[in-house]
Amino acid sequence: DLVPLRRALISVSDKAGLVELGRALAARGVELLSTGGTARSLREAGLGVIDVADVTGFPEMMDGRVKTLHPMVHGGLLALRDNPAHVAAMESHGIGAIDLLVVNLYPFEETVAAGGDYAECIENIDIGGPAMIRAAAKNHAFVNVVVDTEDYAPLLAELEAQGGATTLAFRQALAQRAYARTAAYDAAVSNWMAGALGETAPRRRAFAGTLAQTLRYGENPHQRAAFYVDGSDRPGVATATQWQGKELSYNNINDTDAAFELVSEFLPADGPACAIIKHANPCGVARGATLEDAYRRAFDCDRTSAFGGIVALNSRLDVVTAQAICEIFTEVVIAPAADDAAKEIFAAKKNLRLLTTGGLANPAAPGLAFRQVSGGFLVQDRDNGRLSRADLKVVTKRPPSEAEIADMLFAWTVAKHVKSNAIVYVRDGATVGVGAGQMSRVDSTRIAARKAQDMAEVLGLAAPLTRGSVVASDAFFPFPDGLLTAAEAGATAVIQPGGSMRDDEVIAAADEAGLAMVFTGMRHFLH
Ligand code: 5GP
Repeated sequence: DLVPLRRALISVSDKAGLVELGRALAARGVELLSTGGTARSLREAGLGVIDVADVTGFPEMMDGRVKTLHPMVHGGLLALRDNPAHVAAMESHGIGAIDLLVVNLYPFEETVAAGGDYAECIENIDIGGPAMIRAAAKNHAFVNVVVDTEDYAPLLAELEAQGGATTLAFRQALAQRAYARTAAYDAAVSNWMAGALGETAPRRRAFAGTLAQTLRYGENPHQRAAFYVDGSDRPGVATATQWQGKELSYNNINDTDAAFELVSEFLPADGPACAIIKHANPCGVARGATLEDAYRRAFDCDRTSAFGGIVALNSRLDVVTAQAICEIFTEVVIAPAADDAAKEIFAAKKNLRLLTTGGLANPAAPGLAFRQVSGGFLVQDRDNGRLSRADLKVVTKRPPSEAEIADMLFAWTVAKHVKSNAIVYVRDGATVGVGAGQMSRVDSTRIAARKAQDMAEVLGLAAPLTRGSVVASDAFFPFPDGLLTAAEAGATAVIQPGGSMRDDEVIAAADEAGLAMVFTGMRHFLH
């Protein structure tokens, strides 16, 4: 199954590594065919190249829309060399076999990410490139197809090892990667169009990403894993710069994303904020007078769980905050930016990763969220629901105070990022108890209060910080019990969607306990 490599067609938008590849192939006596810009680059490097236009007998035309779409090219890629009829057709039409296709496509994804207008994006949809890639990959019994500059070196190594030929296994691997590329390319086009047309209802969509990184393992060491990116240029873990520390793990990426998405809810204009995440749930979120203060207040919600956590900040990391973070072991710190002096402090901490994003994520941005089920996956809009105080409906006799309203909105925002059933107690702009992921809402209420009690002991307080707090529930209280548990823990005000069959009972219980309660009419399940 060894196929010697004699003739190559190279047509690349990204010219990185092109000349080196051309030289190495020429040195092996491989004949080079190329399209306009690629041929020019090779010639400038002193290499002999045949223009595809001379092979097809047609000039490149229509702004390059038609360059290689011709039987002289596609026949050379698709002909089965061991099929007499195919060979006869090649001979009678003067079609020469092409053994290697090197193509990288018009930079469609980059054009979208750079904010190209509709016409620019359309013009950057490569037509001839994918057609050739798919042809060459189909005919991998005889043809090598390279779609990524990263594969130049492995190709040359294979040629070296096989005396100027390649094995079937090598060509199969290339073909498999080639189809991944064309699938991702067309998915990017389809997804861009869905956005450009203004997506109001789910459209038929194709989903694909580009492999960014193979991870050491998945959620557990026996699971393989990789990180795929969707080509968006939004600030976040996928586009962040890592300044130090070892490679992020699967769980790190997942948790860092949760942390950054949460802290991005808090605009720097409203003051510094910090979120500490463990197992994708917040174990402390706070605003502060300074960033350090925000970190310390978030830390004080649950000091035990914060150990080995992910810290996300909504403003530029400074020295004092970096020093405070260094007091315990932290896996990852993510922030829009970091002072050089803060980076220096972290430099001594080899196991700590520092990521900067250049900005905050936009919590109101539209987008899609995925969840795998056996045999398929579910797609929904990302939860970009947000509330302001005008959306709150007071349902109790006692209206909430200004301070309670501010804390309720804070608690509600945090609850959106806590796995359901979510209960969040907040006092003075800091979480003081988080109950996450319980099957019963009343259990979440109890656990959060219990943790606040534990922290009161750690902090040497006479009473837990839930005294005088407000409480948020991500979905309605189906019975008064959860609400009464919160009242016992010292909560004075409640924010919840409302909408239970027993709302009347729940409201009556709130009135009796002297609580203020508001309904949001919006739910924030997160599973
Ligand atoms: P060059 O820089 O060599 O002029 O153009 C290289 C690019 O053209 C590659 O990205 C390749 O995929 C693309 N290409 C090759 N043939 C065709 C064609 O017939 N139509 C279009 N639209 N693009 C092509």
